[in-house]
Amino acid sequence: YQAKKLRNSHAVFSEDLQKKSDERAVMESELRGAIDNGELYMVYQPQVEAVTGKVSGVEALLRWNNPLLGLVPPDRFIPVAEDCGLINPIGNLVVDTALKEIAGIHGDYERLRLSINVSVQQLVHGGFRDYIKQKCADYDLPNSLIKIEITESLFIEDFWQIENLLKLLSGDGFSISLDDFGTGYSSLSVLRKLPINEVKIDKSFVQDILSDPHDRALIKSIISIGQSLEIPTLAEGVEDIDQALLLRQYGCNLFQGYLFAKPMKLEDLKIYLQGFEPYPFDAVR
Ligand code: C2E
Ligand code: MG
Ligand code: MG
Ligand code: MG
Repeated sequence: YQAKKLRNSHAVFSEDLQKKSDERAVMESELRGAIDNGELYMVYQPQVEAVTGKVSGVEALLRWNNPLLGLVPPDRFIPVAEDCGLINPIGNLVVDTALKEIAGIHGDYERLRLSINVSVQQLVHGGFRDYIKQKCADYDLPNSLIKIEITESLFIEDFWQIENLLKLLSGDGFSISLDDFGTGYSSLSVLRKLPINEVKIDKSFVQDILSDPHDRALIKSIISIGQSLEIPTLAEGVEDIDQALLLRQYGCNLFQGYLFAKPMKLEDLKIYLQGFEPYPFDAVR
């Protein structure tokens, strides 16, 4: 019986693995055509200032709508793009599209900042710095309006190289934002060694801030570390007004989340910005 059970579970296991690798193969081959077929596009999520309730900027987030696979979330296809050598062309597309689109509305919102997610591979191997500088010049956007979001969990390997590049980008006037803070390994030394201008508190901490005293304590500490190092903090995934009020009380500087707005296509972002009134934090309680 034991042997049979083992055999069966093994069969199920490998079937599962087979299915996963088939899915991945399909995803990879579809992704190869995605740029040329115009299946990739950007959405933008507003970032709101905790003190004033005003929108200070937007984060550009990539979307992939494929005829066969439907809408595939970036958490699933970005790792595939990284593995199969597509992250550089896709990353360049993100930079080009987001800068072009935001430059297009800049006449009306000249101080609107733009955050862009950059994978470490893209940063290190892709001629990224020259590319983004060139695009800023082409679209007449000051470098200082761009925040480059990088994820600390991926730093372990090429740390020296990453440190160098980030210092150069920082010297060019770009802001560096540390995404998903608290989920990686090396948070504190990263803050010490790298030119970080913003810390994004991961949404997994924000989620349970009202119910979990431990998460509350961690967030409070992250914000106060930020304050002592003069690094502004942004809380991701704020869905609830009580979360926002508590984070605000702790001194968090910026919010991003469904409470304020979901990520939107450029057309909807324009409408949102036109009708926008500062979020009335003080009137809420
Ligand atoms: P991220 O950079 O940490 O982005 C935040 C994610 O949280 C986004 O998911 C956003 O839609 C989601 N989010 C925002 N507000 C809320 C909220 O109130 N509640 C909840 N539950 N979620 C919220 P998305 O767009 O699916 O992106 C997932 C991840 O994929 C991103 O995490 C980022 O790491 C990666 N990604 C997205 N676009 C790009 C890109 O252009 N380049 C690269 N390299 N990675 C990207
Ligand atoms: Mg991000
Ligand atoms: Mg994040
Ligand atoms: Mg994330």
